[in-house]
Amino acid sequence: MKKKIAILGSTGSIGTQALDVIRTHADKFEAYILTAGSNADLLIKQAREFMPDAVVIAAEDKYQYVSDALTDLPIKVYTGEQALCDVCQCAEVDMVLTAMVGFAGLRPTVSALRARKPIALANKETLVVAGEYIMAEAMKHKVPILPVDSEHSAIFQSLVGDDVNTIEKILLTASGGPFRNFTPEQLSAVTPADALKHPNWSMGDKITIDSATMMNKGFEMIEACHLFGVKPEQVEVVVHPESIVHSAVQFEDGAVKAQLGVPDMKLPIQYAFSFPQRLAMQDNRLDLFKLQSLHFYPADMHRFPCLDFSYKAIAQGGNMPCIMNAANEVVNLAFRRGEIAFPRIAEIISETMQRATFSNSAELEIYFDSDREARRIATELVNR
Ligand code: NAD
Ligand code: MG
Repeated sequence: MKKKIAILGSTGSIGTQALDVIRTHADKFEAYILTAGSNADLLIKQAREFMPDAVVIAAEDKYQYVSDALTDLPIKVYTGEQALCDVCQCAEVDMVLTAMVGFAGLRPTVSALRARKPIALANKETLVVAGEYIMAEAMKHKVPILPVDSEHSAIFQSLVGDDVNTIEKILLTASGGPFRNFTPEQLSAVTPADALKHPNWSMGDKITIDSATMMNKGFEMIEACHLFGVKPEQVEVVVHPESIVHSAVQFEDGAVKAQLGVPDMKLPIQYAFSFPQRLAMQDNRLDLFKLQSLHFYPADMHRFPCLDFSYKAIAQGGNMPCIMNAANEVVNLAFRRGEIAFPRIAEIISETMQRATFSNSAELEIYFDSDREARRIATELVNR
């Protein structure tokens, strides 16, 4: 029996690598549902190769185009936000990979959890925004959430067989991004093109900018707290420019377990698909003799205030991480479009966190309201 996987965001960086994994292990996995935001041509190409039961193109103006291109095949074609939620609940689906970007992943993830579909979670924004709510839903419906983020996969792998033991702390590694050693003057002059050149990983544009600001590491700290039930002060960010140690767990007896490997997202994706089994993988071997040395440094919260905001947001709790995420989505895009300078990213997020309405309740509808309000405020600040 093949595992039937629904891939939300199949045309993105994670989505296409997930399809590589499925192509390699076609005897074990099947791409049962494919969905994309607006990249119709790639979705059509993927559909013709993988022959899923259904595809969803979120952008409604592309529906006719996709539908016409697949008329000769028995593939259902849907469009719109609701369809993304509906396909996750399809009876045949065995697992949902959330590989879409941003807050848009929240509703489909909730929908999948309610249908008791195991989640392979790449869409970290969902846990940042609504971690408490999501973990409670997963618990209530007894659904596993398997991390795809490389750091969280490393932590998860380090915990296998040790999950009954108390975690003293998590060592969350970070490459430090392309501006690790930049001065404030240098940072004020960086361009989107500079920020999009990540030293070790090739990823989607949004997360690549989040890596340059280290907002990504802040998000991952919050993600780790929810996934592994630790407190923020138990998560130590360790800048490790080589991206070989993907993260580690320190136990009560001082033992530290880590997972190492070359930077390649296919391994965490495949592990989430095949857990608890490991499947063969080619061309990703670590050569310690070639590497010779690995380096570790503390994170600089002054240079990268977004990391600090994440600790503040989770300490405040309620909808504050949601506000921070919404502001970040606005400024991340504005920076990529050349509308604001790099230091404005942190300034606008900080100001939005101060101005948006705080709420302490962990309710889904609050998150939707807060997301809207924070986007409005951040957009105003971008345009000022
Ligand atoms: P990406 O931009 O390359 O791809 C995003 C995918 O989501 C595309 O298929 C796009 O069509 C779809 N999408 C975008 N907006 C949508 C919307 N409103 N509705 C429906 N679909 C939409 O992004 P990515 O780099 O693959 O990242 C995906 C997620 O995985 C993010 O949450 C990111 O933080 C996380 N992640 C990525 C990596 C990586 O290596 N790329 C690593 C760890 C975690
Ligand atoms: Mg990561």
